[in-house]
Amino acid sequence: MNTTPTVIIGGGPAGLTAAYELSKHGKKSVVFEKADRVGGISRTETYKGYRFDIGGHRFFTKVGEVEQLWQEVMGDEFIKVPRMSRIYYNNKFFSYPLEPYNALSNLGLINSVLIMWSYFKARVRPNPTEENFEQWVSNRFGKRLYETFFKTYTEKVWGIPCTEIRADWAAQRIKGLSLKKAITNALFGSNDTKTLIKEFNYPVYGPGQMWERFQQKLNAKG
Ligand SMILES: Cc1cc2nc3c(=O)[nH]c(=O)nc-3n(C[C@H](O)[C@H](O)[C@H](O)COP(=O)(O)OP(=O)(O)OC[C@H]3O[C@@H](n4cnc5c(N)ncnc54)[C@H](O)[C@@H]3O)c2cc1C
Repeated sequence: MNTTPTVIIGGGPAGLTAAYELSKHGKKSVVFEKADRVGGISRTETYKGYRFDIGGHRFFTKVGEVEQLWQEVMGDEFIKVPRMSRIYYNNKFFSYPLEPYNALSNLGLINSVLIMWSYFKARVRPNPTEENFEQWVSNRFGKRLYETFFKTYTEKVWGIPCTEIRADWAAQRIKGLSLKKAITNALFGSNDTKTLIKEFNYPVYGPGQMWERFQQKLNAKG
């Protein structure tokens, strides 16, 4: 092994993957992590023996090398799980991705009509400026649906006002999704959109286990 180690700051997914790749090329590294465990915002915390994910994580990629890396590190502890995501809003569970019947019955007739009206308004006269998350989502789903679901959820999970999140981040995370497509998917079951995947890989003990495995393998290599 090369004797001059590379210094990596942060034992999150990026830092540990970098260290692991370096080790595969015979290069030593030292990873500095300020928290008491690895995994960054993809870590799994333990409390009284129970494991809690900081955020539910799906391991899904179209990049073969990445998929191969995860399989290599997790082995048979990487299992396929079905996805069920729901938004808890106004004391009701909404299926996510949205399912028209479920959404309309939960929202009530008047609210549903207002959402559809706001959607058509956005389609006919979209905001010509699409620089932030709010503008990007409102143009595709209408302002009312944005305010009902996307704004509160996104700001709670990411801790940043939607006006301060760039539109290209939304485009990357909600690739090709539109209200029309969501409705078509719900009715006909077609599914080619990243946000809509129904099944994904998951380490048996949560996403943090992936990074704990990386740490163990790196420690074993010194
Ligand atoms: C709710 C939620 C859900 C998500 N869902 C998914 C998903 O389904 N699929 C997916 O692929 N991604 C998902 N992500 C995104 C994913 O968590 C991040 O992309 C990923 O964790 C980024 O890794 P990172 O190593 O770049 O940064 P981080 O995870 O932020 O890790 C950075 C690490 O560096 C450490 N650090 C920072 N500063 C210092 C310092 N000065 N000295 C030492 N250590 C330092 C931190 O403690 C941390 O451990 C989700 C994120 C959230 C919040």
